[in-house]
Amino acid sequence: MMLSVSELHKVYDGRGRRVEAIGEISFSVDEGSFVCVVGPSGCGKTTLLRCIAGLLAPTSGEVTVAGARVTGPPAGLAIVFQDYGRSLFPWLRVADNVDLPLRAAGTPRAQRRGLVDEALEAVGLADAHQAYPWQLSGGMQQRVAIARAIAYQPSVLLMDEPFAAVDAQTRADLEDLIRSVWQRLGVTLLFVTHDIDEAVYLGQRVIMLSASPTRVAEDLVIDLPDDRDQLSTRGDARFTELRGRVYAQIQKAKLEGKTR
Ligand code: ADP
Ligand code: MG
Repeated sequence: MMLSVSELHKVYDGRGRRVEAIGEISFSVDEGSFVCVVGPSGCGKTTLLRCIAGLLAPTSGEVTVAGARVTGPPAGLAIVFQDYGRSLFPWLRVADNVDLPLRAAGTPRAQRRGLVDEALEAVGLADAHQAYPWQLSGGMQQRVAIARAIAYQPSVLLMDEPFAAVDAQTRADLEDLIRSVWQRLGVTLLFVTHDIDEAVYLGQRVIMLSASPTRVAEDLVIDLPDDRDQLSTRGDARFTELRGRVYAQIQKAKLEGKTR
């Protein structure tokens, strides 16, 4: 087991406004697996990732990464945010953006060069080293953010709705890119999305969260073959069945949230 979230509870408490962002969540993720988390907007998905990444302290409960309790950003963990526009530094060239976490980690220069080259190659941006982020399209900027995470060679990669802001075709390409990166690197991947189809297409498992107060509504194994592609996987009867199951569960969780 690479990642464990146990009885995680999070309340934002500020100046008379109290928001229970996470009711209670527990789950664990095996090393090298690809798990998607899906839930309605506002249900605490980003809060969950920030707690796992050690950027936010839980109100109670705990997170462990590779057996160690998270109290700050764990070594070997990388995160790709939804808002790639703000996650890249506009004054740094693409290669320097990708290099930044490696420098911060004290990786020797000679090694950094190779890691940056490989990562940019892996996301199909071998020609973009010298460009500035603002010269690139949204989809390309998000590729840079992914390259930055890959170059760091994380053992755990967290992604927070990384493709929400790109067009449908780019999104399909990025989904396939991330599956191939996962297969190649053997990284443990926790991928948050509000898109049911995306969750089923990408994951080996889909964890469905309920509306607030957030809990795990269902934890579903996606028993589709590992070799996936946009046309045949999405056209597979089993895919339709699984997405129907996730859809029904999310609807149910929403209704429960409203009547509570
Ligand atoms: P999601 O990512 O699923 O859309 P979030 O984790 O962003 O959900 O937010 C969960 C809930 O917590 C929402 O009601 C949101 O308004 C609230 N929230 C998020 N961040 C803060 C914060 N810094 N202070 C107060 N409330 C917050
Ligand atoms: Mg969010």
